[in-house]
Amino acid sequence: MTKWVYLFNEVERVEKIAGGSWDGVKAIVGGKGAGLLDMTRAGVPVPPFFTVTTQACNAYQKAGKFPKGLWDQELNALKQIERKTGKKFGDPSRPLLVSCRSGAKFSMPGMMNTILNIGLTDAVVDGILRNSGSARFAWDAYRRLIEMFGTVVMDVADEAFERPLEELKHRKGYKVDIEMKAEDWEQIVGVYKKVYKNETSQEFPQDPYKQLELATQAVFRSWNGKRAVDYRRATGISDDLGTAVNICTMVFGNMDQNSGTGVAFTRDPSTGERKMLGDYLLDAQGEDVVAGIRNTDSIENLGKFMPVVYRQFMGITEKLEKHYRDMQDVEFTIERGKLWMLQTRNGKRTAKAAVKIAVDMAKEGLITREQAISRITPENVDALLHPQFDDVAMTKAEKEGKFLAKGVNASPGAAVGQIYFDADTAEKMAKESKQATIMVRPFTKPDDVHGMIASQGVLTSEGGATSHAAVVARQFGIPCVVGASAIKIDLERRIMEVNGSSVREGEWISVNGTTGKVFVGKIPMSTPSLEEQTELMTLLKWADEICARKDIRSAPKGWPRRGLQVWANADYPKDARRARSYGAVGIGLCRTEHMFFEPERLPIVQRMILSKTSEGRTEALNELLPYQRKDFDGLFEAMDGYPVIIRLIDPPLHEFMPDEEKLFEDVVTMRVRGETVGLAEKESLLGAIKSMHESNPMMGLRGVRLSISMPEIVEMQVRAIFEAAADCTKRGIVVKPEVMIPLTGTAKELEWIQPRLVRIAKTVTEEKQVKFHYKFGTMIEIPRAAVTATEVAVLAEFFSFGTNDLTQMTYGYSRDDAERNFLITYQEQGILEKNPFQSLDRAGVGKLMEWAITNGRATRPDLEVGICGEHGGDPDSIEWCHMIGNNYVSCSPFRVPVARLAAAHAALKHRPVPRKKSARPKAAKGKRKK
Ligand code: PEP
Ligand code: MG
Repeated sequence: MTKWVYLFNEVERVEKIAGGSWDGVKAIVGGKGAGLLDMTRAGVPVPPFFTVTTQACNAYQKAGKFPKGLWDQELNALKQIERKTGKKFGDPSRPLLVSCRSGAKFSMPGMMNTILNIGLTDAVVDGILRNSGSARFAWDAYRRLIEMFGTVVMDVADEAFERPLEELKHRKGYKVDIEMKAEDWEQIVGVYKKVYKNETSQEFPQDPYKQLELATQAVFRSWNGKRAVDYRRATGISDDLGTAVNICTMVFGNMDQNSGTGVAFTRDPSTGERKMLGDYLLDAQGEDVVAGIRNTDSIENLGKFMPVVYRQFMGITEKLEKHYRDMQDVEFTIERGKLWMLQTRNGKRTAKAAVKIAVDMAKEGLITREQAISRITPENVDALLHPQFDDVAMTKAEKEGKFLAKGVNASPGAAVGQIYFDADTAEKMAKESKQATIMVRPFTKPDDVHGMIASQGVLTSEGGATSHAAVVARQFGIPCVVGASAIKIDLERRIMEVNGSSVREGEWISVNGTTGKVFVGKIPMSTPSLEEQTELMTLLKWADEICARKDIRSAPKGWPRRGLQVWANADYPKDARRARSYGAVGIGLCRTEHMFFEPERLPIVQRMILSKTSEGRTEALNELLPYQRKDFDGLFEAMDGYPVIIRLIDPPLHEFMPDEEKLFEDVVTMRVRGETVGLAEKESLLGAIKSMHESNPMMGLRGVRLSISMPEIVEMQVRAIFEAAADCTKRGIVVKPEVMIPLTGTAKELEWIQPRLVRIAKTVTEEKQVKFHYKFGTMIEIPRAAVTATEVAVLAEFFSFGTNDLTQMTYGYSRDDAERNFLITYQEQGILEKNPFQSLDRAGVGKLMEWAITNGRATRPDLEVGICGEHGGDPDSIEWCHMIGNNYVSCSPFRVPVARLAAAHAALKHRPVPRKKSARPKAAKGKRKK
């Protein structure tokens, strides 16, 4: 018989079935179930419980009914709980009440259902009343069950229950629930039973077992509810995991003033600071804290009211953090002075907190540096380099009176957007109208998550650091301010008002999730500096150390055994300096043509292109030479000691010429108006441009083909490179120039051009009497070059994969058009899993690269290999580059930190498995048999 149910003391049995893997345990009993089992084993006070497995959920989804044996197993488990607690389900004299909570393998906070107080009936409520001595508590518990059961199990709308409660409060002049008396709740129970009957055409079930059965089914079904499905889409959680159901003895935080309930993080989930952060409420049930409806007290204050419980709580949570070696998010309840732990899980956190916690825990010896690196995702690093508000702009905004309100800084970062007061509108405006939106609500509920994800930022007027809005925003890295109580939101008039000023729906605000401040209007943002983020710097340094290990890659002889280096694509010294400060250890691509576009140079370039003779070209190029020399000089200086790859001119020449259509229009206008001054020049320019026209310019006269047709340009460039390198060397700068020839398709092209360029290099170094290391190599961006790498590597001392062009030419997709065109449909239809211009196509383009490296190194074992296409900054592509034996990846300076982390991840993931020591005992010394 399949085992569908595990009792609180059966953790070893689940472990056995999961083959000893904790991940496997979570897959069977869910994260919450696994945490409860583990806490019970560790002697932490957990109310007795049992867990229905995720497999049971999947079986239910498939058949639409409980699988065979499940219900009997639930009943048996319930008996064990009765034995353990000394209570009895449905028995008014010593009633047992249970909760029924979802709990999938991966935490999906608030996305699925929970039903509390199951087991309460008309008969049992009297028993509760007698046992607790509090009629108020008993009737309140009962009405909560009817409401939750009605809405969650029977799909009754919330308002059906909320309305009569509000009416009664209004009649009695109460503002908050806490003012409700026992007889009020008793009256509400009567009303709720009627509501239930009206809405469902059934009586509220008086059979506690029926309640439990239906509640279990409702939790199963909530796995496929809209909220849960949306959440899984957004987080990439697989649909076929299913949820477990935890059925747990109820303990009550709302019995009296000696009871309470709370949630806490063992470290600050926003900043990562090593300090318990939590909220609690006396005389309350769990959802009162999480919903952010009642104002909670901070956890330190619990120490004042209940010092013994507080000390016990601090001891347990410290133990839990050490046990899981991670920051814990715990839920607890105190029932008449006794502490119960209801949940522990690894807490969600901001990117900033994730990095700080990982680095701190490695320093504290709780985890290794490698574990610290593995815990940080490329998205975390990316988020930390995202824009923040400019300090100066912020002060200016305050002076100008744009400050609106301050709330809790729940999720850091800067967000500027137009406000919308509900999730659907926020999502619609963001998706359909492409607006930057900020979702503003009094507080959020799980139904609001789609609006939050679509928005740049979130603002609420209620709730604290552990409220739903705060937790979800942190998880998704959305800047968020909660509990900005000065803001009064009028959902009907679609307006929010603060101290006399008002902001209407659709107007702009700026939300500073780092400080908790909210401003009207748009405040400029700036990119944070990496240097100021000490923990991130430390983590990336550790990442570099992993990649620098000599034995991290297994590879054929002569191939790199260290991990990948990260270089940068930079054209100007300022970019190179930024790249270096971000940790790049080389320039993998300097696109020299960008320098030709500068205003004072473009006319010279155009003159050079238009001249009909080699002499005319050379004359113009001689004018350009000093500019280029200066450009390269700056780059070498910025990259002192590091290699700099300079690519010779690549694009077709028409790109440097005026726009043909515009010129044609000018000429026609001048002719019509009879203007003659300058007409002849324009006509001749138009003629020249027309003569350059190509149907497929990306496949036309560009790259090495252009260099062969007009060698004067690249000859000038090589002279400029070597003159600059020589001058720098004389100034004591260590230069390592590498000259890169683009768009090679056949080794013969290199044979034609490279020797003339090498001659220039030699001439310059002799003229200047300096020596330094340099290389000549090529880009591999045409499939034919990859396929014939054996021959190409005869001359090329290095390969750099230009995967933008290599993807274009391998697929035959235009890199300029495909992404806004059929590629969208291809991805929607699943023809392409990912956009191949963003993430390397391992099966096609990747295989060509692998082939090129293997064959290239067969010719030249020390062939240096890199990548400089956009894929060089994409973590998945970086992993592939590690696997196939690249020496380095090169990407935009801003992506360098992410690439450093991704390189370390790849190195750790693919590190050679240490050879197992022989199992046979070694013969004792000197006793070896002859
Ligand atoms: C490439 O093709 O990948 C490349 C880096 O060159 P460009 O993008 O300049 O064509
Ligand atoms: Mg290219």
